[in-house]
Amino acid sequence: MARLAMAVACTAVLITLAVAGVQSQRQPAGTAHNGNAFRFNKVAEGVYHAVGTGALTVVGNSSVIVNTDDVIIVDDHVSPAAAWVLVDEIKTITNKPVRTVINTHFHYDHAHGNQIFDKDVAIIGHEFTREMLLGGKSLQMPLYKNYVTGLPGQIENLKQRIAMESDATRKAMLQTQLQAAQNNAASQAELKPTPPNVTLRTNMTLYRGDREIQIRFLGRAHTAGDVVVYLPKEKIVMTGDMLTSTLSNMSDAFVDEWVATLDQLKKLEFVTVLPGHGEAFTDRAKIDYFQAYLRDVWTEISRLKQQGVSAEDAAKRADLTKHKEHFSTITAPGVPLIAVTRIYDLLNARR
Ligand SMILES: [Zn+2]
Repeated sequence: MARLAMAVACTAVLITLAVAGVQSQRQPAGTAHNGNAFRFNKVAEGVYHAVGTGALTVVGNSSVIVNTDDVIIVDDHVSPAAAWVLVDEIKTITNKPVRTVINTHFHYDHAHGNQIFDKDVAIIGHEFTREMLLGGKSLQMPLYKNYVTGLPGQIENLKQRIAMESDATRKAMLQTQLQAAQNNAASQAELKPTPPNVTLRTNMTLYRGDREIQIRFLGRAHTAGDVVVYLPKEKIVMTGDMLTSTLSNMSDAFVDEWVATLDQLKKLEFVTVLPGHGEAFTDRAKIDYFQAYLRDVWTEISRLKQQGVSAEDAAKRADLTKHKEHFSTITAPGVPLIAVTRIYDLLNARR
């Protein structure tokens, strides 16, 4: 009887996932969570910005485009488990199948869910994104290495804090964080970076019913292969990490070229930005603020390098505090060492 019940339950799972584009895949480890893992913020008919609630570790945002017959996902988070739960929760907004995934760039928090999709799902990205994921570069990037090696310590720390916490509400919150961290670690252990199976070098347009979905490479920026997803009728653009609600990391950036690429972005007619991190926004002036920051960080770090200052010292001394009004993470002089190292490398390569 128990076996029969199990068989029925398994069939139910298969049926519900049969519509999702992952039906031939095994459910990954680490998908357990309490409550919804995503908020689907509706920004237009059939267009959603999916932001993590904290019930599961997802790191970046994704966007979901529901068309007449199918669903497109833009970016699929930090792990197979996060992508799996995204696909599962998409069923709360539609029963149409996921047939297309777009990777805005190769970074681990945007493309490490690719492996859960069936072979007939088109995973679209810039050819540079494919090259990087094929070559294992998303695993080799220092930000990812630090992220993964930090997980056991994070789990230990949470366990200690839970043991010492007496307030029931705070204890429950810490327990949610612990569960999310443990599940993330379990999913990272199963990770097999999977590259796009459809690539582009400049532009590609998908037509789905009445909807036009443009995938555009506007120049090097946060990486050498960022694409934005632009819906011209809805006047929405999904920008990955080329433009977020705060400062993007610069570990693979072309810091000075980024400014010109953002000029290309400004030429698109859009009202709403769905960024790879942070909430959706409509204030186009954010692009100007970010360009001003990029220009200044480039100039300031170049000046310090020219004076013979080491990257470590430049990271402490570079003063970008005049931008703190627009970027709340800037509280004192100093720039992340990863950005300084990148700028030094770019300058060295040009000598
Ligand atoms: Zn990124």
